[in-house]
Amino acid sequence: MTTKEDCLQRDIQDPLRDLRDEFNLPVDTIYLDGNSLGVMPRAAPGRVAQVVTQEWGTDLIQSWNKHGWFQMPGKVGDKIARLIGAGPGEVVATDSTSVNLFKVLSAAMNIAAADAPQRKRIVSERSNFPTDLYIAEALCKQHGMELVLVEPEEIAASLTAEVAILMLTHVNYRTGAMHDMATVTAAAHAEGILTVWDLAHSAGAVPVDLKKAKADFSVGCGYKYLNGGPGAPAFVWVNPLHADRFWQPLAGWWGHAAPFAFTPDYQPAPGITRYQCGTQPMISLAALECGVDTVLGAEPFGGMAALRAKSLALTDLFIQLVEERCAGHGLGLATPREHALRGSQVCLTRDEGAYAIVQALIARGVIGDYRAGDGGRHKDILRFGFTPLYIGFVDVWNAVEHLKQVLESGEWKRPEFNQKHAVT
Ligand SMILES: *Cc1c(COP(=O)(O)O)cnc(C)c1O
Repeated sequence: MTTKEDCLQRDIQDPLRDLRDEFNLPVDTIYLDGNSLGVMPRAAPGRVAQVVTQEWGTDLIQSWNKHGWFQMPGKVGDKIARLIGAGPGEVVATDSTSVNLFKVLSAAMNIAAADAPQRKRIVSERSNFPTDLYIAEALCKQHGMELVLVEPEEIAASLTAEVAILMLTHVNYRTGAMHDMATVTAAAHAEGILTVWDLAHSAGAVPVDLKKAKADFSVGCGYKYLNGGPGAPAFVWVNPLHADRFWQPLAGWWGHAAPFAFTPDYQPAPGITRYQCGTQPMISLAALECGVDTVLGAEPFGGMAALRAKSLALTDLFIQLVEERCAGHGLGLATPREHALRGSQVCLTRDEGAYAIVQALIARGVIGDYRAGDGGRHKDILRFGFTPLYIGFVDVWNAVEHLKQVLESGEWKRPEFNQKHAVT
Protein backbone atom coordinates (compact mmCIF):
# COMPACT_ATOMS: atom_id res chain seq x y z
CA MET A 1 0.00 0.00 0.00
CA THR A 2 1.30 3.43 -0.94
CA THR A 3 1.24 5.94 1.92
CA LYS A 4 1.15 9.72 2.00
CA GLU A 5 4.75 9.60 3.25
CA ASP A 6 5.74 7.68 0.08
CA CYS A 7 4.16 10.47 -1.98
CA LEU A 8 6.05 13.09 -0.01
CA GLN A 9 9.32 11.26 -0.71
CA ARG A 10 8.52 11.11 -4.41
CA ASP A 11 7.96 14.88 -4.46
CA ILE A 12 11.27 15.46 -2.69
CA GLN A 13 13.08 13.27 -5.23
CA ASP A 14 11.28 14.73 -8.25
CA PRO A 15 13.83 16.56 -10.46
CA LEU A 16 10.98 18.60 -12.01
CA ARG A 17 9.64 19.72 -8.64
CA ASP A 18 10.92 23.31 -8.79
CA LEU A 19 9.19 23.98 -12.12
CA ARG A 20 5.95 24.54 -10.20
CA ASP A 21 7.49 27.78 -8.89
CA GLU A 22 6.99 29.21 -12.37
CA PHE A 23 3.22 29.15 -11.77
CA ASN A 24 0.75 31.22 -9.85
CA LEU A 25 -0.83 28.19 -8.14
CA PRO A 26 -4.00 29.16 -6.31
CA VAL A 27 -3.79 28.45 -2.56
CA ASP A 28 -5.70 25.57 -0.99
CA THR A 29 -6.39 24.19 -4.45
CA ILE A 30 -5.38 21.00 -6.21
CA TYR A 31 -5.77 21.95 -9.82
CA LEU A 32 -6.49 18.90 -11.97
CA ASP A 33 -7.94 20.82 -14.90
CA GLY A 34 -4.85 21.95 -16.78
CA ASN A 35 -6.25 19.97 -19.69
CA SER A 36 -9.02 22.58 -19.96
CA LEU A 37 -7.22 25.77 -18.89
CA GLY A 38 -3.60 25.67 -17.78
CA VAL A 39 -2.50 27.52 -14.63
CA MET A 40 -1.24 31.07 -15.13
CA PRO A 41 2.55 31.36 -15.45
CA ARG A 42 4.07 33.73 -12.90
CA ALA A 43 5.74 35.64 -15.72
CA ALA A 44 2.46 36.34 -17.54
CA PRO A 45 1.02 39.34 -15.61
CA GLY A 46 4.30 41.26 -15.83
CA ARG A 47 4.82 40.47 -19.48
CA VAL A 48 1.22 41.35 -20.37
CA ALA A 49 1.52 44.59 -18.37
CA GLN A 50 4.69 45.41 -20.30
CA VAL A 51 2.97 44.88 -23.64
CA VAL A 52 0.07 47.04 -22.50
CA THR A 53 1.86 49.92 -20.79
CA GLN A 54 5.13 50.08 -22.71
CA GLU A 55 4.58 48.57 -26.13
CA TRP A 56 0.97 49.61 -26.65
CA GLY A 57 0.83 52.51 -24.17
CA THR A 58 4.00 54.30 -25.24
CA ASP A 59 5.49 52.89 -28.42
CA LEU A 60 2.16 52.34 -30.14
CA ILE A 61 2.43 51.69 -33.89
CA GLN A 62 6.23 51.54 -33.75
CA SER A 63 5.91 48.32 -31.74
CA TRP A 64 5.18 46.32 -34.87
CA ASN A 65 8.85 46.74 -35.71
CA LYS A 66 10.45 47.83 -32.45
CA HIS A 67 9.01 44.99 -30.35
CA GLY A 68 8.75 42.37 -33.07
CA TRP A 69 4.96 42.25 -33.01
CA PHE A 70 4.73 41.33 -36.65
CA GLN A 71 6.98 38.27 -36.11
CA MET A 72 5.17 37.05 -32.99
CA PRO A 73 3.07 34.24 -34.55
CA GLY A 74 6.21 32.69 -36.06
CA LYS A 75 8.37 33.32 -33.00
CA VAL A 76 5.94 31.58 -30.65
CA GLY A 77 5.29 28.97 -33.35
CA ASP A 78 9.02 28.11 -33.41
CA LYS A 79 8.94 27.51 -29.66
CA ILE A 80 5.88 25.25 -29.96
CA ALA A 81 7.60 23.41 -32.83
CA ARG A 82 10.25 22.18 -30.37
CA LEU A 83 7.52 20.40 -28.41
CA ILE A 84 5.83 18.64 -31.31
CA GLY A 85 8.65 17.45 -33.55
CA ALA A 86 8.29 20.21 -36.13
CA GLY A 87 11.07 22.30 -37.65
CA PRO A 88 11.74 26.01 -37.25
CA GLY A 89 9.57 28.11 -39.56
CA GLU A 90 6.95 25.34 -39.78
CA VAL A 91 4.47 26.42 -37.09
CA VAL A 92 2.51 29.61 -36.48
CA ALA A 93 0.62 30.51 -33.32
CA THR A 94 -2.58 32.07 -34.56
CA ASP A 95 -6.38 32.08 -34.39
CA SER A 96 -8.30 29.31 -32.59
CA THR A 97 -8.05 25.54 -32.92
CA SER A 98 -11.44 25.49 -34.65
CA VAL A 99 -10.41 28.14 -37.19
CA ASN A 100 -7.04 26.49 -37.84
CA LEU A 101 -8.76 23.17 -38.37
CA PHE A 102 -10.98 24.82 -40.98
CA LYS A 103 -7.84 26.02 -42.79
CA VAL A 104 -5.94 22.73 -42.80
CA LEU A 105 -8.94 20.59 -43.57
CA SER A 106 -9.76 22.85 -46.53
CA ALA A 107 -6.18 22.61 -47.76
CA ALA A 108 -6.24 18.83 -47.37
CA MET A 109 -9.52 18.70 -49.32
CA ASN A 110 -7.93 20.75 -52.10
CA ILE A 111 -5.00 18.35 -52.30
CA ALA A 112 -7.34 15.37 -52.34
CA ALA A 113 -9.50 16.97 -55.05
CA ALA A 114 -6.40 17.45 -57.21
CA ASP A 115 -4.70 14.10 -56.58
CA ALA A 116 -7.61 11.73 -55.96
CA PRO A 117 -10.93 13.35 -56.92
CA GLN A 118 -12.80 10.06 -56.59
CA ARG A 119 -12.16 10.07 -52.84
CA LYS A 120 -15.11 11.81 -51.19
CA ARG A 121 -14.89 10.77 -47.57
CA ILE A 122 -13.44 12.16 -44.37
CA VAL A 123 -13.12 9.66 -41.53
CA SER A 124 -13.05 10.68 -37.89
CA GLU A 125 -13.88 9.30 -34.48
CA ARG A 126 -17.42 9.54 -33.16
CA SER A 127 -16.09 10.69 -29.78
CA ASN A 128 -13.77 13.30 -31.26
CA PHE A 129 -14.17 16.76 -29.73
CA PRO A 130 -17.40 18.18 -31.20
CA THR A 131 -15.96 21.36 -32.71
CA ASP A 132 -13.66 19.24 -34.88
CA LEU A 133 -16.63 17.25 -36.12
CA TYR A 134 -18.74 20.37 -36.70
CA ILE A 135 -16.01 22.04 -38.77
CA ALA A 136 -15.58 18.84 -40.81
CA GLU A 137 -19.34 18.49 -41.27
CA ALA A 138 -19.65 22.08 -42.51
CA LEU A 139 -16.76 21.66 -44.95
CA CYS A 140 -18.14 18.36 -46.20
CA LYS A 141 -21.44 20.07 -47.03
CA GLN A 142 -19.60 22.79 -48.90
CA HIS A 143 -17.39 20.38 -50.86
CA GLY A 144 -19.92 17.64 -51.56
CA MET A 145 -18.07 15.20 -49.34
CA GLU A 146 -19.17 12.83 -46.60
CA LEU A 147 -18.07 12.71 -42.96
CA VAL A 148 -17.91 9.13 -41.69
CA LEU A 149 -17.67 8.64 -37.90
CA VAL A 150 -16.28 5.43 -36.45
CA GLU A 151 -15.19 3.99 -33.12
CA PRO A 152 -11.42 3.75 -32.44
CA GLU A 153 -11.27 0.01 -33.14
CA GLU A 154 -12.99 0.56 -36.50
CA ILE A 155 -10.46 3.08 -37.83
CA ALA A 156 -8.16 0.56 -39.52
CA ALA A 157 -11.01 -1.07 -41.44
CA SER A 158 -12.45 2.32 -42.44
CA LEU A 159 -9.35 3.35 -44.42
CA THR A 160 -10.62 2.47 -47.89
CA ALA A 161 -10.24 3.80 -51.43
CA GLU A 162 -13.19 6.19 -50.92
CA VAL A 163 -11.43 8.04 -48.11
CA ALA A 164 -9.53 11.28 -48.73
CA ILE A 165 -8.68 12.37 -45.19
CA LEU A 166 -8.35 10.80 -41.76
CA MET A 167 -8.93 13.48 -39.13
CA LEU A 168 -8.14 12.45 -35.55
CA THR A 169 -7.43 13.98 -32.20
CA HIS A 170 -4.24 12.38 -30.87
CA VAL A 171 -5.44 12.19 -27.23
CA ASN A 172 -9.19 11.87 -26.77
CA TYR A 173 -10.68 14.65 -24.63
CA ARG A 174 -13.27 12.34 -23.11
CA THR A 175 -11.33 9.18 -22.35
CA GLY A 176 -7.69 10.28 -22.35
CA ALA A 177 -6.94 7.47 -24.82
CA MET A 178 -4.00 8.14 -27.15
CA HIS A 179 -3.47 7.01 -30.72
CA ASP A 180 -0.12 5.80 -32.03
CA MET A 181 0.38 8.65 -34.47
CA ALA A 182 3.14 7.04 -36.52
CA THR A 183 1.34 3.71 -36.95
CA VAL A 184 -2.04 5.23 -37.77
CA THR A 185 -0.48 7.73 -40.19
CA ALA A 186 1.44 4.94 -41.95
CA ALA A 187 -1.76 2.89 -42.28
CA ALA A 188 -3.56 5.90 -43.78
CA HIS A 189 -0.74 6.67 -46.19
CA ALA A 190 -0.62 3.05 -47.32
CA GLU A 191 -4.18 3.59 -48.57
CA GLY A 192 -3.43 7.00 -50.12
CA ILE A 193 -5.15 8.93 -47.33
CA LEU A 194 -3.99 12.26 -45.86
CA THR A 195 -3.90 12.73 -42.07
CA VAL A 196 -4.96 15.70 -39.95
CA TRP A 197 -3.98 15.49 -36.28
CA ASP A 198 -5.43 17.65 -33.52
CA LEU A 199 -2.89 17.99 -30.69
CA ALA A 200 -5.19 19.88 -28.27
CA HIS A 201 -4.53 17.37 -25.47
CA SER A 202 -1.01 16.45 -26.59
CA ALA A 203 1.10 19.58 -27.06
CA GLY A 204 2.99 20.10 -23.81
CA ALA A 205 1.46 16.92 -22.35
CA VAL A 206 2.98 14.01 -24.25
CA PRO A 207 5.95 13.73 -26.64
CA VAL A 208 4.85 14.28 -30.23
CA ASP A 209 7.00 13.88 -33.34
CA LEU A 210 5.00 15.12 -36.33
CA LYS A 211 7.89 14.86 -38.79
CA LYS A 212 8.94 11.38 -37.71
CA ALA A 213 5.31 10.24 -37.96
CA LYS A 214 5.17 11.86 -41.44
CA ALA A 215 1.89 13.52 -40.50
CA ASP A 216 0.36 15.81 -43.11
CA PHE A 217 -1.43 18.54 -41.15
CA SER A 218 -1.76 19.42 -37.49
CA VAL A 219 -3.44 21.95 -35.21
CA GLY A 220 -3.42 22.36 -31.44
CA CYS A 221 -4.53 24.44 -28.52
CA GLY A 222 -2.70 27.20 -26.63
CA TYR A 223 -4.69 27.38 -23.40
CA LYS A 224 -4.55 23.74 -22.23
CA TYR A 225 -1.14 22.17 -21.50
CA LEU A 226 0.66 25.15 -23.07
CA ASN A 227 -0.69 27.41 -20.29
CA GLY A 228 -1.31 30.34 -22.66
CA GLY A 229 -4.36 31.79 -20.91
CA PRO A 230 -8.10 31.80 -21.67
CA GLY A 231 -8.73 31.86 -25.41
CA ALA A 232 -4.99 31.87 -26.15
CA PRO A 233 -4.04 31.64 -29.84
CA ALA A 234 -3.84 28.08 -31.11
CA PHE A 235 -1.21 26.73 -33.52
CA VAL A 236 -1.02 25.17 -36.94
CA TRP A 237 1.59 23.04 -38.69
CA VAL A 238 1.61 21.81 -42.27
CA ASN A 239 4.09 19.28 -43.57
CA PRO A 240 6.50 21.25 -45.80
CA LEU A 241 5.62 18.75 -48.56
CA HIS A 242 2.15 20.30 -48.76
CA ALA A 243 2.60 23.81 -47.40
CA ASP A 244 3.00 25.54 -50.76
CA ARG A 245 0.58 23.46 -52.78
CA PHE A 246 -2.65 25.31 -52.10
CA TRP A 247 -4.02 28.46 -50.57
CA GLN A 248 -5.86 28.07 -47.35
CA PRO A 249 -9.33 29.61 -47.71
CA LEU A 250 -8.95 32.40 -45.11
CA ALA A 251 -6.52 34.19 -47.39
CA GLY A 252 -6.09 37.37 -45.35
CA TRP A 253 -3.32 39.89 -45.68
CA TRP A 254 -1.15 38.41 -42.92
CA GLY A 255 -0.77 35.34 -45.11
CA HIS A 256 0.25 37.41 -48.13
CA ALA A 257 3.82 37.19 -49.44
CA ALA A 258 4.18 41.00 -49.14
CA PRO A 259 1.40 42.39 -46.94
CA PHE A 260 2.79 45.90 -46.99
CA ALA A 261 2.90 46.03 -50.77
CA PHE A 262 -0.90 46.43 -50.53
CA THR A 263 -1.53 44.83 -53.91
CA PRO A 264 -5.14 44.13 -54.88
CA ASP A 265 -4.41 40.49 -55.70
CA TYR A 266 -3.43 37.73 -53.27
CA GLN A 267 0.01 36.16 -53.47
CA PRO A 268 0.37 33.56 -50.73
CA ALA A 269 3.48 33.69 -48.58
CA PRO A 270 5.63 30.57 -48.88
CA GLY A 271 5.41 27.96 -46.14
CA ILE A 272 3.34 28.14 -42.99
CA THR A 273 3.02 31.95 -43.03
CA ARG A 274 0.13 31.70 -45.46
CA TYR A 275 -1.85 30.03 -42.66
CA GLN A 276 -2.11 33.39 -40.92
CA CYS A 277 -5.22 35.39 -41.75
CA GLY A 278 -5.53 38.88 -40.27
CA THR A 279 -3.96 41.02 -37.55
CA GLN A 280 -3.03 38.91 -34.57
CA PRO A 281 -3.70 39.60 -30.84
CA MET A 282 -0.40 40.79 -29.38
CA ILE A 283 -1.44 40.77 -25.73
CA SER A 284 -2.66 37.19 -26.03
CA LEU A 285 0.42 36.10 -27.97
CA ALA A 286 2.64 37.58 -25.25
CA ALA A 287 0.76 35.56 -22.60
CA LEU A 288 0.95 32.44 -24.74
CA GLU A 289 4.71 32.85 -25.08
CA CYS A 290 5.00 32.88 -21.26
CA GLY A 291 2.98 29.66 -21.18
CA VAL A 292 5.07 27.91 -23.82
CA ASP A 293 8.21 29.04 -21.97
CA THR A 294 7.03 27.17 -18.85
CA VAL A 295 7.02 23.93 -20.86
CA LEU A 296 10.38 24.71 -22.46
CA GLY A 297 11.61 25.25 -18.90
CA ALA A 298 11.71 21.46 -18.61
CA GLU A 299 14.32 21.18 -21.40
CA PRO A 300 17.35 21.24 -19.04
CA PHE A 301 15.76 18.35 -17.09
CA GLY A 302 14.99 16.12 -20.06
CA GLY A 303 12.18 18.06 -21.73
CA MET A 304 9.04 16.33 -22.92
CA ALA A 305 10.46 12.86 -22.18
CA ALA A 306 10.94 13.80 -18.52
CA LEU A 307 7.51 15.44 -18.36
CA ARG A 308 5.99 12.33 -19.89
CA ALA A 309 7.69 10.04 -17.36
CA LYS A 310 6.35 12.13 -14.49
CA SER A 311 2.89 12.40 -16.06
CA LEU A 312 2.65 8.60 -16.32
CA ALA A 313 3.86 8.24 -12.73
CA LEU A 314 1.16 10.68 -11.59
CA THR A 315 -1.66 9.06 -13.55
CA ASP A 316 -0.51 5.55 -12.50
CA LEU A 317 -0.52 6.68 -8.88
CA PHE A 318 -3.98 8.25 -9.20
CA ILE A 319 -5.45 5.09 -10.72
CA GLN A 320 -3.78 2.92 -8.06
CA LEU A 321 -4.92 5.09 -5.13
CA VAL A 322 -8.49 5.37 -6.43
CA GLU A 323 -8.64 1.59 -6.72
CA GLU A 324 -7.07 1.04 -3.29
CA ARG A 325 -8.88 3.74 -1.34
CA CYS A 326 -12.22 4.28 -3.11
CA ALA A 327 -13.09 0.64 -3.80
CA GLY A 328 -16.74 -0.29 -3.51
CA HIS A 329 -18.07 3.13 -4.52
CA GLY A 330 -19.01 2.29 -8.08
CA LEU A 331 -16.16 4.05 -9.85
CA GLY A 332 -14.95 2.72 -13.18
CA LEU A 333 -11.92 3.62 -15.31
CA ALA A 334 -12.46 5.02 -18.81
CA THR A 335 -8.77 5.69 -19.46
CA PRO A 336 -6.48 2.93 -20.79
CA ARG A 337 -4.07 1.45 -18.24
CA GLU A 338 -1.45 0.78 -20.88
CA HIS A 339 1.05 3.64 -20.96
CA ALA A 340 1.34 3.78 -24.74
CA LEU A 341 -2.42 4.29 -24.98
CA ARG A 342 -2.78 6.99 -22.31
CA GLY A 343 -2.44 10.76 -22.45
CA SER A 344 -2.01 12.93 -19.34
CA GLN A 345 -5.50 12.63 -17.89
CA VAL A 346 -7.53 10.03 -16.04
CA CYS A 347 -11.28 9.69 -16.49
CA LEU A 348 -13.44 7.88 -13.98
CA THR A 349 -16.99 6.76 -14.65
CA ARG A 350 -19.91 6.38 -12.31
CA ASP A 351 -23.47 5.45 -13.21
CA GLU A 352 -24.92 8.02 -10.83
CA GLY A 353 -23.76 11.38 -9.50
CA ALA A 354 -20.66 12.01 -11.62
CA TYR A 355 -21.51 15.70 -12.02
CA ALA A 356 -22.36 16.19 -8.32
CA ILE A 357 -19.20 14.39 -7.14
CA VAL A 358 -17.10 16.75 -9.27
CA GLN A 359 -18.99 19.73 -7.79
CA ALA A 360 -18.41 18.46 -4.25
CA LEU A 361 -14.70 18.04 -5.03
CA ILE A 362 -14.52 21.58 -6.43
CA ALA A 363 -16.10 22.90 -3.21
CA ARG A 364 -13.20 21.19 -1.40
CA GLY A 365 -10.64 22.82 -3.72
CA VAL A 366 -10.01 19.80 -5.92
CA ILE A 367 -10.66 21.10 -9.41
CA GLY A 368 -11.54 18.52 -12.04
CA ASP A 369 -14.39 18.58 -14.50
CA TYR A 370 -17.32 16.59 -15.74
CA ARG A 371 -18.21 15.47 -19.24
CA ALA A 372 -21.67 14.13 -19.95
CA GLY A 373 -22.00 10.66 -21.43
CA ASP A 374 -23.67 10.02 -24.76
CA GLY A 375 -26.33 7.67 -23.47
CA GLY A 376 -24.55 4.80 -25.23
CA ARG A 377 -20.99 3.64 -25.23
CA HIS A 378 -19.69 6.62 -23.24
CA LYS A 379 -20.75 7.03 -19.63
CA ASP A 380 -20.72 10.25 -17.60
CA ILE A 381 -17.15 11.07 -16.73
CA LEU A 382 -15.22 12.64 -13.86
CA ARG A 383 -12.17 14.01 -15.63
CA PHE A 384 -8.80 14.77 -14.00
CA GLY A 385 -5.87 16.27 -15.88
CA PHE A 386 -2.34 15.93 -14.52
CA THR A 387 0.07 18.62 -15.65
CA PRO A 388 3.49 17.35 -14.55
CA LEU A 389 4.90 20.90 -14.51
CA TYR A 390 2.92 21.81 -11.42
CA ILE A 391 1.17 18.74 -10.01
CA GLY A 392 2.99 16.66 -7.42
CA PHE A 393 2.57 13.23 -5.86
CA VAL A 394 1.15 14.55 -2.57
CA ASP A 395 -1.41 16.47 -4.64
CA VAL A 396 -2.53 13.15 -6.08
CA TRP A 397 -2.73 11.64 -2.60
CA ASN A 398 -4.78 14.55 -1.29
CA ALA A 399 -7.12 14.56 -4.31
CA VAL A 400 -7.91 10.88 -3.79
CA GLU A 401 -8.41 11.45 -0.05
CA HIS A 402 -11.01 14.13 -0.85
CA LEU A 403 -12.69 11.85 -3.38
CA LYS A 404 -12.84 9.10 -0.77
CA GLN A 405 -14.41 11.44 1.77
CA VAL A 406 -16.94 12.80 -0.73
CA LEU A 407 -18.02 9.26 -1.59
CA GLU A 408 -18.04 7.93 1.98
CA SER A 409 -19.95 10.89 3.41
CA GLY A 410 -22.41 11.08 0.54
CA GLU A 411 -22.04 14.86 0.60
CA TRP A 412 -22.30 14.94 -3.18
CA LYS A 413 -26.03 14.29 -2.79
CA ARG A 414 -26.58 17.78 -1.41
CA PRO A 415 -28.81 19.91 -3.67
CA GLU A 416 -26.18 22.60 -4.25
CA PHE A 417 -23.89 20.06 -5.89
CA ASN A 418 -26.64 18.90 -8.22
CA GLN A 419 -27.29 22.31 -9.77
CA LYS A 420 -26.03 22.36 -13.36
CA HIS A 421 -23.94 25.36 -14.47
CA ALA A 422 -23.56 26.62 -18.05
CA VAL A 423 -19.93 25.46 -18.26
CA THR A 424 -19.21 22.02 -16.82
C1 LIG B 1 -10.03 22.06 -26.59
C2 LIG B 1 -10.22 21.54 -27.95
C3 LIG B 1 -10.57 22.38 -29.00
C4 LIG B 1 -10.85 23.82 -28.73
O1 LIG B 1 -11.16 24.54 -29.87
P1 LIG B 1 -11.35 26.12 -29.77
O2 LIG B 1 -11.42 26.54 -31.15
O3 LIG B 1 -10.18 26.65 -28.99
O4 LIG B 1 -12.60 26.37 -28.98
C5 LIG B 1 -10.67 21.84 -30.28
N1 LIG B 1 -10.44 20.53 -30.49
C6 LIG B 1 -10.10 19.69 -29.50
C7 LIG B 1 -9.84 18.25 -29.79
C8 LIG B 1 -9.99 20.16 -28.20
O5 LIG B 1 -9.67 19.33 -27.20
